[in-house]
Amino acid sequence: MSSDAAPKLFPLFADLRGRRVLVVGGGAVARRKVEALLSAGADVVVGAPALEPALAEWNTQARIEFIDGPFAAHWLDDAWLVIAATDEATINRAVVEAADARRIFANAVDDAELSRFHVPARVERGPLQIAISSGGGAPMLARLVREELETRFDESIGALAELLTRHRERIRTRWPDIGARRHGFAKLLSSPLQGLLRKRQHLAAERAFDAALREHETDSTTGSVALVGAGPGDPGLLTLRALRVLNEADVILHDRLVSDEILQLARRDAERISVGKLAGDGGHSQADINALLVKLAQTGKRVVRLKGGDPFVFGRGGEELQALRTHGIDYEVVPGITAAVACGAYAGIPLTHREHAQSLRIVTAHGKEDLDTLDWTSLARGRQTLAFYMGVAGLERIRERLTSHGLAATTPFALVENGSRPEQRVVTGSLADLPALARLHEVRAPALLVVGEVAAFANSLHWFGREPLTRTDAASPSLAAAA
Ligand code: SAH
Repeated sequence: MSSDAAPKLFPLFADLRGRRVLVVGGGAVARRKVEALLSAGADVVVGAPALEPALAEWNTQARIEFIDGPFAAHWLDDAWLVIAATDEATINRAVVEAADARRIFANAVDDAELSRFHVPARVERGPLQIAISSGGGAPMLARLVREELETRFDESIGALAELLTRHRERIRTRWPDIGARRHGFAKLLSSPLQGLLRKRQHLAAERAFDAALREHETDSTTGSVALVGAGPGDPGLLTLRALRVLNEADVILHDRLVSDEILQLARRDAERISVGKLAGDGGHSQADINALLVKLAQTGKRVVRLKGGDPFVFGRGGEELQALRTHGIDYEVVPGITAAVACGAYAGIPLTHREHAQSLRIVTAHGKEDLDTLDWTSLARGRQTLAFYMGVAGLERIRERLTSHGLAATTPFALVENGSRPEQRVVTGSLADLPALARLHEVRAPALLVVGEVAAFANSLHWFGREPLTRTDAASPSLAAAA
């Protein structure tokens, strides 16, 4: 049984009402277990040579059954579970072995390895219970998480669980379809209901509940689309609103730029469709995507269109909304952290700075045509920061246009590849060396190019991941060989 890894446990909540559970041991540890078992309605049998005062009293009151004496295997007769709570390891082991022989699940208090089931750390709020386990591998961490949850959920969540339990049947008949129920529920939770419960205004809460139930009778079957920005990759940069919408989704249409970690945060049984397209890989066309969005929403689905960064910054979000509007489909937009903002932050590049840049220009450098239509004279002016999206293929051209329009070849640049992700890399240097350094370090999409004096701050203010790759690296023999 012993190994370095904690076992992966199967979590379950057991209905112990009226079921016989044996607790071996008569001290304070046993008492705590007995107390929890009694509150779950179990028939508790305590076996021990002696009982501490509270247990003795419960025995007098016939709340528990008491077997006096040293442990014997027949104590396990008719038990569903057993807890070994003595302070002697050999006795605990004997109890667990006797239980194993009878296929009865046993727990040895504070001995994860010996235990066949664990009793998790718990947060209880009325009928709502949250159980936490690290499989016995990191009990302190489980405890810490429990403390966090204790502060995160106040008593009102218990009152809410109680109210919902009481009205379970009404909720089911109002929204017979599970999808509609989930949707209605989400709205219910954003209503004043919980605030009222928090203020202990139970009557007003009942009324708010009734109103919410009536209000959503009508709109439960129409589909909708949420256009959601997933940010640059780090799931921590998702907004709370995006998270909520992802939790209500029936279908998620996502780009390739959206990271797996983020997709994992979405509702488990939501269908995921990748409509990713990288420049020139011949994936779905924009028209296909628009048509798919419309079709899914028309069948009553709650669709999330999930895009890297922000949906309105080089995300074609506008085109998708136009298609939805044409077909009269409900939509909302949840902004996300765009690559320029994220890469600036994660590379230590302040995008504006009182001494260096008073404006920020967000530019796409997708193809030659895009580059040809840009106003290079104004881009080549100083005291501004340029953030080029989709520029990896056009770096040579960008340098050439900027310098030929008067921007100094010594102007600093920073190339941020996979910004905010664990594999983030930052390459810094002067504009003159931009294409060579990008080639040397084999920079790949997604990467953002920052040009302007502020880019040099990446060398002194970086804090995330690896240090920036600079010209010095290029001079080192191994990298020079790669060039
Ligand atoms: N809507 C997105 C941009 C889509 S265009 C946003 O707001 O960020 C795709 C381009 O965005 C990429 O070619 C790259 O230039 C940039 N980009 C997106 N995510 C990035 C990341 N994590 N690191 C660096 N650049 C990124």
